[in-house]
Amino acid sequence: MKPTTLCTFFIFIIFWVVPVSGDEKVTGHMAPFIDERLSSSIELDCGVSIVENKDKRKLPVNRINNWCMKAVSRFPDFLKAKQIKINTSKQFHWVLSFLPEDHCYRCLNDLRYRFSERQFQADVIGYTDKNLQYSFVFDIESDKEFKPTVIHELFHAQSMFYGLYDKHSRDDFEKAAKDEVLADEFTNWLDK
Ligand SMILES: [Zn+2]
Repeated sequence: MKPTTLCTFFIFIIFWVVPVSGDEKVTGHMAPFIDERLSSSIELDCGVSIVENKDKRKLPVNRINNWCMKAVSRFPDFLKAKQIKINTSKQFHWVLSFLPEDHCYRCLNDLRYRFSERQFQADVIGYTDKNLQYSFVFDIESDKEFKPTVIHELFHAQSMFYGLYDKHSRDDFEKAAKDEVLADEFTNWLDK
């Protein structure tokens, strides 16, 4: 090949490959890729890192920080009130993404691609994954379900982190069902 032909060949390759890879949709992989993450994560005082805000909606970071501080500091009191014995001495750490409540690619209900492998295959406004140690919450601050959802998912997160979730049962569906009841109770209890 003459050098000019070679050069044209490489230019063709570059222009052909770039648009194709940009359109590529990934199946599975619930965690965000590097280019989907915030350039720097938001570290809350409760041990939670907010690493993604897909549509860059305004997040009430100070209020979320307060809700999280309360949810984490009062978690042992709730367990005591329910007579649940679990060791909560380890420093809590968890990761959080805010995503649009939609079916679009990389949205919270993208059951076709990114959330195709999650345990719960129906529309949600929040979802917490034990293996990934990760919660996903919808991103509409003005919605009355926003605060309860953040707190509800933070209950699941702590339950999974401290091993309560696995103590519920041997059966996966029963684990999820029992944790769901407790998450709702905790959210109402914390609000009092
Ligand atoms: Zn739940």
